[in-house]
Amino acid sequence: MTSQHATDYDVIAVGAGFAGLGLIHYIREAGLSIKVFDKASDIGGTWTWNRYPGAATDSEGYYYCLTFSKEILQEWTWSERYPGWEETHRYMHFVADKCDLWPHIQLNTEISSADYQDSSGHWLVKTVSGETFTCKYFVSAMGMISQPVIPNIKGLESFNGPCFHSARWPQEGLDYKGKRIGIIGSGATTVQMLPVVAKDAAQVTVFQRTPNFVMPAVQKPMTPEWDKEIKDNYDQIIEKCRNHVFGMAFDSPVGRDLADTPPDEVQRIFEEHWPRGSFRFVFETFDDLLSNADSNKAAADFIAGKIKERVNDPELADLLTPKGYPLFAKRPPLDHGYYEAFNRDNVSLVDINEQEPIVEVTATGIRTTENLYEFDIIVLATGFQAYTGSQEALTIRGADGQRLKDKWRTESGSIMGVFVAGFPNLFMITGPQAPFANLPTSIEQNIVYITECIKKMEQEGHDICRPQQQAEDEWVAHTAEIHNQTLMAQGDKVHSWMMGANLEDRNARVLIY
Ligand code: NAP
Repeated sequence: MTSQHATDYDVIAVGAGFAGLGLIHYIREAGLSIKVFDKASDIGGTWTWNRYPGAATDSEGYYYCLTFSKEILQEWTWSERYPGWEETHRYMHFVADKCDLWPHIQLNTEISSADYQDSSGHWLVKTVSGETFTCKYFVSAMGMISQPVIPNIKGLESFNGPCFHSARWPQEGLDYKGKRIGIIGSGATTVQMLPVVAKDAAQVTVFQRTPNFVMPAVQKPMTPEWDKEIKDNYDQIIEKCRNHVFGMAFDSPVGRDLADTPPDEVQRIFEEHWPRGSFRFVFETFDDLLSNADSNKAAADFIAGKIKERVNDPELADLLTPKGYPLFAKRPPLDHGYYEAFNRDNVSLVDINEQEPIVEVTATGIRTTENLYEFDIIVLATGFQAYTGSQEALTIRGADGQRLKDKWRTESGSIMGVFVAGFPNLFMITGPQAPFANLPTSIEQNIVYITECIKKMEQEGHDICRPQQQAEDEWVAHTAEIHNQTLMAQGDKVHSWMMGANLEDRNARVLIY
């Protein structure tokens, strides 16, 4: 089909985080026009919303970046191993300024719907304020962990003080000095937040349902020598990321399985790697930790031993120790003093799984089956509707008016995380079943793929790209087959967002590749 109608833009994308910024660069290089909308008042995506104290990358900063400009890679210097949100945000401004991306971005603009027009083959995009725009290619650049999950707890709206999701920490800041804070949830967000807020708050209480395997981050400042080493070797670092199963600049596979290693040697290798920090503990020790249950158990036991060493109260240490599920069935957080925070007098843990489930939020605090805990501030660090949430938050209709949200009710299928059958000329950057990895690596790979696809269409005169259901079925089956070979497949037991198992209203499914 050849369309004769002009559109406002070749490409419209939603989301001005890493995905939107990178997309502008590549689409502009391809000679096409693009507009990126974002409802936020600034660029940054995750790094403009998540302003909670302690928010930082869990990837090492020097490969948590876009790689299209060698000049930027050489000019930008990270101040520490895991940059905080402020620094990552500054980096994104630096990229936007340097590459003159601003003219393609419209902030403070929430998109309400995007409709594929069967008659013209174009997309009609509407904003909440009533503006409309048309484009040939509609791209979701909304991020895979961006739509907050608000827990279904009775009385939540009745609390007298500030009560908000962690990803909506007040943008203007919040004075929590001397205040009593309740945090519901104990995932990666709480693991980062707790040690920082505990320093100034009067009291912090964490309501934990499932304990996590928390591994040391081992923060350290950048030094001139380290910076030089990185910059002298950037090509190899990027190459490593692109070839690593989790998109990280790690030295793995290591060519060694725990199953074939004598127990003494296993402990020696674990002890040697533990103080180095990062997910390297999992990926640079043995190659079978995610695939062999016994090997995984050995790593899990090692981590449990470390929790005992660091938490003074043995009962508390036991409550903080994961049980009954394998390492990486939930995405493990990285630690900047989480366990040590529980040794402080002003920090406590409430086990809401077995000991005292939450009954309700009251005007003054949180009531469990056993106690009423009074607070000045409540933080809902309760996670996200990963991969599908942001696309489902607006109305996206494909061919014949089919809604994406309806299509994804029982199975959130895609082709490579990029296409959805029935949604012509729709592209997603890290949609469901895209590679689960260091995000800038997956994001940029998806962008390059999408841009190449669009370029090919433009050069060869194809107006419409129609993703086929058969290809989607094959990708869904392939993704599930690989996932089922790993222990991540047990994520449905423990509400893992990687399987959408943290959502009350739907069945678990494989969301990651
Ligand atoms: P999360 O890992 O999904 O943790 C949510 C927490 O809230 C869990 O402890 C969960 O308990 C609890 N929860 C959810 N609903 C609840 C309810 N109704 N009642 C009681 N507790 C409830 O969310 P997150 O900590 O925000 O992290 C999500 C992901 O974002 C991370 O895994 C990571 O990929 C990303 N993240 C990254 C960074 C970083 O890289 N720097 C930092 C923060 C987050 P259950 O475990 O029992 O479900």
